Amino acid sequence: MLQEPERTCICCRSKKSKHNLLRLVIDKDRLVFDKEQKNNGRGYYICKQSSCIKSCFEEKGKNTIRLKKFIKSLKIKIEITTGQLRELEELLIEEVAD
Ligand SMILES: [Zn+2]
Repeated sequence: MLQEPERTCICCRSKKSKHNLLRLVIDKDRLVFDKEQKNNGRGYYICKQSSCIKSCFEEKGKNTIRLKKFIKSLKIKIEITTGQLRELEELLIEEVAD
């Protein structure tokens, strides 16, 4: 039986099929939202759920934002400011709003 490939959410680690996830991609030294899921860069996925997106961008104690932690764990040089994180969060939230 043919199954849709599953991807793991970078935030909550649950496995879902691609259409239940939003794709982020590393474009040069930036992490950007890949709305059409067509960018050739290395992709990362996050749940198409505002609760998961929010928890991923939420500041918890010692300025820890899960997404930032995740970026660090990649050991790839990615520049992301707090402003850019907020923009990215807004884009993702907008996407799940409708
Ligand atoms: Zn998730």
